[in-house]
Amino acid sequence: MSPKPADDLRRSAEIRLVQMPPTAPEIAADELLHEFHLYQIELEMMNDELRRALITIEEARDRYLDLYEFAPVGYFTLNSAGMIAEVNLTGASLLGEERGLLLKRRFAQFIAPEDRDEWHQEILRVALHGDRKSFELALQRADGSRFQARLDCLPRTDSGNRPVLRVALTDISERLLAEEELRIADIAFESREGMVVTDAQGIIVRANQAFCRLTGYRANEVVGNTLALLKSERHDEAFHQNLWSSLVRDGHWQGDIWNRHKNGKAYAEWMNLDAVKTPDGRTTHYVGTLSDITRNDEAKAEIHRLAYYDPLTQLPNRRLLMDRLGQALAAGSRSGRHGALLFLDLDGFKNINDNHGHGVGDLLLIEVTRRLHEVVREGDSLSRLGGDEFVVVLENLGAESAEAAIQAESVGEKVRESLARPYQHAGREIHCTASIGIALFHGHDEAVETLFKQADLALYQAKGATKNCLRFFDPAMQATMEERGVLEKDLGMAVKRGQLQLHYQAQIDRSRRIIGAEALLRWLHPKRGLVAPDVFIPLAEESGLIHSIGHWVLKTACAQIKAWATHPATRDLRLTINVSTRQFRQPGFVDEVRRVLVNSGANPSRLKLEVAENLFANNATDITNKMQELKTLGIGFSMDDFGAGHSLLSYLKRLPLEQLKIDRSFVSNLATDDNNAAIVQTLIAMGQAMGLKVIAEGVETEAQLEYLDQHDCTHFQGDVFSQALPLPEFEKLLDAPPRKTRTPRPPRSPTA
Ligand code: C2E
Ligand code: MG
Ligand code: MG
Repeated sequence: MSPKPADDLRRSAEIRLVQMPPTAPEIAADELLHEFHLYQIELEMMNDELRRALITIEEARDRYLDLYEFAPVGYFTLNSAGMIAEVNLTGASLLGEERGLLLKRRFAQFIAPEDRDEWHQEILRVALHGDRKSFELALQRADGSRFQARLDCLPRTDSGNRPVLRVALTDISERLLAEEELRIADIAFESREGMVVTDAQGIIVRANQAFCRLTGYRANEVVGNTLALLKSERHDEAFHQNLWSSLVRDGHWQGDIWNRHKNGKAYAEWMNLDAVKTPDGRTTHYVGTLSDITRNDEAKAEIHRLAYYDPLTQLPNRRLLMDRLGQALAAGSRSGRHGALLFLDLDGFKNINDNHGHGVGDLLLIEVTRRLHEVVREGDSLSRLGGDEFVVVLENLGAESAEAAIQAESVGEKVRESLARPYQHAGREIHCTASIGIALFHGHDEAVETLFKQADLALYQAKGATKNCLRFFDPAMQATMEERGVLEKDLGMAVKRGQLQLHYQAQIDRSRRIIGAEALLRWLHPKRGLVAPDVFIPLAEESGLIHSIGHWVLKTACAQIKAWATHPATRDLRLTINVSTRQFRQPGFVDEVRRVLVNSGANPSRLKLEVAENLFANNATDITNKMQELKTLGIGFSMDDFGAGHSLLSYLKRLPLEQLKIDRSFVSNLATDDNNAAIVQTLIAMGQAMGLKVIAEGVETEAQLEYLDQHDCTHFQGDVFSQALPLPEFEKLLDAPPRKTRTPRPPRSPTA
């Protein structure tokens, strides 16, 4: 029943009184009173209802106000100019400002500068289309702090029918943060490890791709199942019960576990299981990570292979060889039998690499490996030390060293023969041989390193001999090598300590006039005395010391030329120095000579460089160019030891030579050996044909001198005239050259 207003009720009673019949006035009055009473009651009731309705309205208004003020959403009314006309408490607190201070301020002031354009555009769109519109942008509080907000805008009109905009504002920073964390978690979940998430009952809710790869199942095949799907028969029920009870108790389990792949195969995994708990300790999920240990084992094997095997030939490398050799020595001392260490080095392998390319070089090494496998016995171990060096360890040879040596030699010979067979590549034959050094061992009598050194020395000897041969380690040779080592160390100090000297051997013309000298190096060793160049020059070449030694010779010779320039008796002398092949080949050699000449002030035309035939064995063009460059400075060239090497005549013609020096081996037995006499004549004729001067070295006797002179040799050097002398003695010679006298040369010792 809807309440009627009291005035209406009264008016209706009065109308009824006026309409009463006049015949029964008393009854009518009673009835009327009664009815009036009823109306009064009814009126009271209606008043009550009205009051209750008013209360309800009041309550609703309160609720609305509470909701309005304290809702988690900021609520704004903006006028058409974008000013804040009204705002709830939450809105004011979100913007970090007192409500009173917000009114009449533009809402746009609180939009972060970079988002203001968007705000204006979106608001315009709301105003134009009259639609509700939501968008997200950054807001900036009065204190400068920022937050990400969602704005729900609704166009309305106010009581004066003016357009207003209602804006509901929500702080979404936390939501965005949570979304970002989820994204990160998603990426982390797709890691390389297998990952699986189950609910508290162990039912799989998620599995990553790595998990699928490991188990062979697709994600949709495992989701909804329990991890029991992966159970293999390798563990009993107790294992699984223990796993789950410790997981429930400790919230964690880890260990090796055999699981079964979808294909039925069991595989070992390393598994980690963790419980995910709420702050109050309730488990909501379990997260498992799995990694395949079978594959780890493969990786370990790969690492092992890389560390101990040569990648090209798959042979054990030096490290593994040392290890195996140690074991072989131990086995030898137990069995009392001998073993042998064979060092192999391919002869001229560098040339194969240079001429055919490294690819062919590699193929050859692989073929060498194949042949080695063919020749050596099952129990013998092969390895590659690097480059073209291989090692074979033979075990279980005879108990007597002589017998063992014969056995080792037999295997070594087989290896040598097998490797010497031509190699086929692209329809062509490549020839390559090997030199082999052998050291025998007998149990622990030798340390691994000593044995290595011995085999290396034997190999060195094989290389120094004819190549393509075997050599056994010989203790006498070791003593020589050790001496060499000491000598090499001393030689390193020789330049610094001023132990080097130049001796001068006169060179004469047909009229026995001294036209110059060859500077020959001597080393005055503090203990050994005068050491001959034949002993230490090869050592200097091998060790690289030749560069500093050669530099010293060049400098000393140039200083001498400069000194001689001041005396009429010496200023026309030509001084010849020997330049080793290695020194000549060194980049920057031309510049070095140029610098030394300039610094010394020596006249370049007084300097002659003596080079050996082997200088032209490789890179002849480069060498010729260098010679040309030096020749333009005024320097002359003589070809030393001519005839002893393998000079190509066609090539000789192109070299900027001034002189050929006939090797002394042809001169020494001229009188007795017809062959040599013929060679010497040919060499002289060749020199003349090429327009070169010819000098003979090692002329010891008058007879030799005479013979050479008769056959048109123009210059001479040798003991018949003078040996190589220290400078003062050589200079004395210039004043009074000896004629036809000769002091016999003392016999040579290896070091002096
Ligand atoms: P080489 O350049 O062929 O020098 C000639 C060698 O023959 C010298 O020996 C010389 O003393 C010797 N000789 C000269 N006349 C006679 C003779 O009538 N009878 C005999 N039996 N020998 C004679 P040396 O001084 O011992 O030099 C040996 C080699 O050492 C030289 O041979 C040369 O290749 C090298 N050499 C010497 N000095 C130097 C140097 O400064 N630098 C370089 N790189 N090598 C040098
Ligand atoms: Mg010489
Ligand atoms: Mg010579």
